[in-house]
Amino acid sequence: MDAQPSASAKPAVPGSISQVLQPVRGRLIAAALLAAAGAMLTLVPLAGIAHVARSALVEGGVAPADLCWALGIGVACLFAGMLLISAGELLAHLADNRITHHLRVAIVQRLSRVPLGWFSSRASGEVKQAIQDDINTLHSLTAHFYTTLGRAGGAILISLIYLFAMDWRMAIVSLLPFPGFFLFFARAMKASETNMQAFAAGMGRIDNAVVEFVNGIAVVKAFGSSGQAHSRYRQAIDEFAQAFIGFTRPLVASMANANAMIAPVAVLGVVLLFGTLFVALGWIAAPDVLPFVLVTPGLCGPLLLLHYITHDLHHATGAARRVQALLETPVLEPPAPGTQQVPKGGAIRFEGVGFAYDAERQVLADVSFSLEPGTTTAIVGRSGAGKSTLARLLLRFFDPSTGRITLGGADLRQIESANLYRHIGFVLQDVRLIHASVRDNIALGRPSASQQQIEAAAQAANIHQRILALPRGYDSVIGEDAQLSGGEQQRLSIARAVLLDPPVLVLDEATAAADAESEVAIQDALSRFAEGRTLMVIAHRLDTVMHADRIIVIDQGGIHEQGSHAELLARRGLYAQLWAQGGYPQSVEQAVPSC
Ligand code: ATP
Repeated sequence: MDAQPSASAKPAVPGSISQVLQPVRGRLIAAALLAAAGAMLTLVPLAGIAHVARSALVEGGVAPADLCWALGIGVACLFAGMLLISAGELLAHLADNRITHHLRVAIVQRLSRVPLGWFSSRASGEVKQAIQDDINTLHSLTAHFYTTLGRAGGAILISLIYLFAMDWRMAIVSLLPFPGFFLFFARAMKASETNMQAFAAGMGRIDNAVVEFVNGIAVVKAFGSSGQAHSRYRQAIDEFAQAFIGFTRPLVASMANANAMIAPVAVLGVVLLFGTLFVALGWIAAPDVLPFVLVTPGLCGPLLLLHYITHDLHHATGAARRVQALLETPVLEPPAPGTQQVPKGGAIRFEGVGFAYDAERQVLADVSFSLEPGTTTAIVGRSGAGKSTLARLLLRFFDPSTGRITLGGADLRQIESANLYRHIGFVLQDVRLIHASVRDNIALGRPSASQQQIEAAAQAANIHQRILALPRGYDSVIGEDAQLSGGEQQRLSIARAVLLDPPVLVLDEATAAADAESEVAIQDALSRFAEGRTLMVIAHRLDTVMHADRIIVIDQGGIHEQGSHAELLARRGLYAQLWAQGGYPQSVEQAVPSC
């Protein structure tokens, strides 16, 4: 199974639109057909007018019965056409509603199965764009594109049939401006396609420069380098302006020519010119030119409409591709039915574990060690050595590329995830609180917990008194009336873990976000909570883990050395070097005891 994070992989997704719209394809086709039939019917009155006018001119008058028929049929067709168009629009909007709901649910269901490690801030941006912006963009496709296509196509088709039925020679010459339109239009599209990538890249550079500028504004101001940040933004704008000129110059000229070709007055001019010529040559009677005068200019509107919706199609294709890519994000496969295993005991073993976030670099290779029940194992090493990656693998944020991790003899891949997180709790450096009450945040993993149990967990985590001091106590909502410091958030996440009462606990830089006072409170809470549990502690500060039963030093993707603090110091290897670099006391007794 592929455990690589997929956020970086953006496969080309051919036919994304048809894939994404597959569940409502039938309805959209029906909507387009209804709109096409409706558009055809709305043009019948024009033919009626031409018929009445022709009769008046040729026969010197119109019989009242004829007039009534023409009027009756014309009005009936107009209303029937409008009704069909409305039905098409309604169907398309219902299909849009359905597909929007379907896609949002499908994305959420998919994301509930992707590796937890996939959820980086970049991934959050992608999810937000797909669920919010891209699905909104698809609205123009589902709710409007197909019906517009049907309306324009229907109007053009019926007009052509009518004109050719009237007089094929006159029809051909009346339509002469239209190939000209397509010629210039194709040229414009080709020119814009060539420059589209530069245009989109320029747009992307502006986005990045703005985000970089806004995100880093505090640092930029503090270090007085605003000129530099401005200059990157200005450069992005200048490059975009160049790309924009390159994009629009060939487009504007060609589109102006294309639009001029099918301006109604130009089309009318051609019809009158050839009409006069044909009448002079005796090929056609003057009243027979009338249908062409009435109907041919009416082709301009639908054609322009078709041109405009190709733009929508272009945007929607990009949106559909992103949505489809999100729907194809590789997932962590749940255990196949019948292969589920239940952990027996709390021993954890890493067996020949290897992992790479991407194809370029192997972060861990052939790592084997075990965490014996009731013991504390510390993982230390240089920054970037892969310590947190080991913790993420144990929490199944990702699966190892090679080897396996077992809990109580069962491969993590075969343990149902709810069962896994009942056994393994975690407190990570990066605390995630949800926009909900403090109570709900603590009871996240155990919503059925009573108020008493929640308060007991908060007391164990040294955060109960702080919660009581909030405006609404446990009902205060995070981000609204509960503004917590990094250390307080950390203690809240400890309370969350305490409530679950897992036999195994992973602590990754649990005091990283805390100030000195908070750190004491967190350490105090953790040491009480850790008693009797199997602990895996990731630490930068070696003095916080010197009393661990075993310390594993990770370097260059593997275990460099391991042993107790005293053994490792005596070995005078990497650990001793890191200890000396940290400026810690050189004898064990002098060091500050901690969890
Ligand atoms: P630190 O002590 O600085 O937290 P660490 O030892 O915990 O470092 P890891 O966070 O495990 O190191 O990272 C190991 C390597 O994997 C680093 O080179 C890091 O850049 C890379 N890495 C970590 N997370 C990702 C990710 N989501 N995608 C790609 N590479 C990553």
